[in-house]
Amino acid sequence: ERRAALASATGPGATSDGHKVPLLANIGGPADVADAVEAGAEGVGLFRTEFLFLDSGGKAPSEKKQVEAYRQVLEAFPEGRVVVRVLDAGADKPLDFLTPAEEPNPALGVRGLRTLLGHPEVLRTQLRALARAAEGLPVYLEVMAPMVADRADARAFADACRDAGLRAKFGVMVEVPSAALRARSVLQEVEFLSLGTNDLAQYTFAADRQVGALARYQDPWQPALLDLVAMAAEAAGAEGKSCGVCGEAASDPLLACVLVGLGVTSLSMGAKAIPYVRAELSRRTMAQCERAASAARASDGGEQARAAAQSVLSGE
Ligand code: PEP
Ligand code: MG
Repeated sequence: ERRAALASATGPGATSDGHKVPLLANIGGPADVADAVEAGAEGVGLFRTEFLFLDSGGKAPSEKKQVEAYRQVLEAFPEGRVVVRVLDAGADKPLDFLTPAEEPNPALGVRGLRTLLGHPEVLRTQLRALARAAEGLPVYLEVMAPMVADRADARAFADACRDAGLRAKFGVMVEVPSAALRARSVLQEVEFLSLGTNDLAQYTFAADRQVGALARYQDPWQPALLDLVAMAAEAAGAEGKSCGVCGEAASDPLLACVLVGLGVTSLSMGAKAIPYVRAELSRRTMAQCERAASAARASDGGEQARAAAQSVLSGE
């Protein structure tokens, strides 16, 4: 049955009643583009640019090298969307030349946008490289910052984009609970949100995502996490802006339906998951997704939330 469903769902992501949900790919660089295209990704929802920096011999890659890498990705999705995340260094992705050596709590330290605001030349070079890479291409470039906590962070990022002459949509990741709680305020500065559910779970449960003993808190079905997703998605809806998910949560087909039911407008995931999510979504109406989302949020734990969503969807 699963194979038949996989074969029957092709093309853009949508619910069975025609509600469009773009299915995008998470990539780490040009080498991942072929798999994304093969899976039928409608674009890139998360380009993790830190890999370019990790492989760059202890310093930031030159502007020229960055332009080449970004251009290869942008060219692969003519007319499609490409969401590039600026460098997310620190915590689980330390970079010797940027990350403070001794922090008592690296996950709560100088990482993501915080690192870039302390090294404005690195951010500026990256934004300029993105502007140059997009020149003359029909692609729809979106650029977002990781680890944004509040409106002041969002403002600082949008200012840096404008100063670098970048013509693109600017957005922020929602991966710190404060940004979800005050999403409407953050949205006064930027045009879209993208939920990073991996870090959002880490910070919601105060449980380091790298500590195996705490893995249960990293379960993206946790109702507390779903509440924060709903808050961000509702704020974006009220502002007429988009709110995607680019964390691991989006790659679980059942959870993907729940996220759509919570108001999420696009889903980005590893390429391999796209056909499964597309197939599952194509079997559900928007109203079913909404009922599954309510049942999941009314639960008392991750496992219960999954079971509740499953039971709503299999009972219909
Ligand atoms: C996330 O935190 O959910 C996310 C998508 O970013 P990363 O996993 O790269 O931290
Ligand atoms: Mg993250």
